[in-house]
Amino acid sequence: MAGDGTVRLRGHHLLCLLTYRGLGYSPAFVRGMTAIAARLAAGATAEIVEGADDICAPLCAEQQHPHCHEATVPERDRQALTLVAAALGRPLGTGDRLVLDENIRARLRAAYAAGAFAPACALCEWQPLCRDIAAGGYRETLFHAAAAVTSPR
Ligand code: SF4
Repeated sequence: MAGDGTVRLRGHHLLCLLTYRGLGYSPAFVRGMTAIAARLAAGATAEIVEGADDICAPLCAEQQHPHCHEATVPERDRQALTLVAAALGRPLGTGDRLVLDENIRARLRAAYAAGAFAPACALCEWQPLCRDIAAGGYRETLFHAAAAVTSPR
């Protein structure tokens, strides 16, 4: 986390946040990702970075899972950024900053459910679960639930 509260986020984690339901690689990872999802949903600025970010850097530190070092992951980041940029109709690359407000989250959820991000998720072990979560209306996802709390309708 940057000193100004900005959340450092790699490309494909923009997608993972959408379907995040509190499942992950380890209890420490889940605690960290849950906290970051809440911060972003509450309006914290995200800055796009290359490589390990505020979500997965703690996992690398645990050295229990080689996720960050898999050769496919940087390509997944690039694909995710390209597809998210297309879905949002704006350029998006390393160093860009954005607030993932409910309008953006809703547009990304709709695009994910429509399969727009499937190429970026193609080699991920979690894809069947994420696809089911999207098809089920994102029930019990924390990024979605946090939006409902911070933006009462
Ligand atoms: S399939 Fe993998 S990369 Fe895609 S959103 Fe789910 S966890 Fe993230």
